[in-house]
Amino acid sequence: MEVRHKAKKSLGQNFLQDDNIARKIVDSLKISEKDSVLEIGPGQGALTKHILEAAPKKLVLIEKDRYLAPALAEEYPTAEVIQEDALKFVWEDLDPSENWKIVGNLPYNVASKLMWDIAAKSPAVNCVFMVQHEVGLRITAEQGSKKYGGISAWIQSFCQTQYLFQVPPTVFKPKPKVDSAVIKFYLRPDLEKPSDPEGLARVIKFCFQFRRKQLGKILKSFISDSLLQWMEEEGISLKDRPEALSPVQFQGLYNCIKNDFP
Ligand code: SAM
Repeated sequence: MEVRHKAKKSLGQNFLQDDNIARKIVDSLKISEKDSVLEIGPGQGALTKHILEAAPKKLVLIEKDRYLAPALAEEYPTAEVIQEDALKFVWEDLDPSENWKIVGNLPYNVASKLMWDIAAKSPAVNCVFMVQHEVGLRITAEQGSKKYGGISAWIQSFCQTQYLFQVPPTVFKPKPKVDSAVIKFYLRPDLEKPSDPEGLARVIKFCFQFRRKQLGKILKSFISDSLLQWMEEEGISLKDRPEALSPVQFQGLYNCIKNDFP
């Protein structure tokens, strides 16, 4: 796409210049003709053209930049271009009868918030995102590992996550300061959706606020016989730290303490 455009730092604009990496990202989404694809932050279309080559049923592009959005609409007339802040997009409004796949080389400053919402609210079956390398490691971290934190427990409460590959700063213009990672989310139909996602989010955030402390200290105001019994059944000790809990166990913890939790 030919646009004379000065990259805006405020919009996290680091445009991908390497076509092989762009193709690899799109290939990893495994788009078929029955899929509807939504791309976040298409920018100058580095991923977009490869998405269209895969001929999805529908393509929606959400681009906040008010100069790039009309240029995208002109270049890709079959796509629906929405000039909007993706943070304001209502993910629940995506038609759940469509086979949605979401992709984006995400602006670093809003990537975590976007993925937090998309995992919980969108009906997408798969997502592939390029994010800051460190964020990619955290989102795909396993329970018990050093990188496992609130965002890992939250996103893994809804989907399985996979680290795909690392991308160096040299393939972007302008170059970001850090490496990037491409990660994938798979919807997990085997997982029961949390009954009260907001409550679960509060408990996860609360626990990881004190990630170096033991659960006995973190949960001292909520200790009850039922909590202790649940912990024993789950093999969790009061001396464990929050990273010892799996996403499903956070849900169990929330169920035990929800009546006393602010
Ligand atoms: N996909 C392009 C590529 O790979 O070269 C651009 C990626 S660039 C890292 C991020 C893109 O997201 C930019 O086009 C930027 O304008 C757009 N963007 C930034 N913040 C956004 C937001 N809140 N909502 C939607 N798009 C946003």
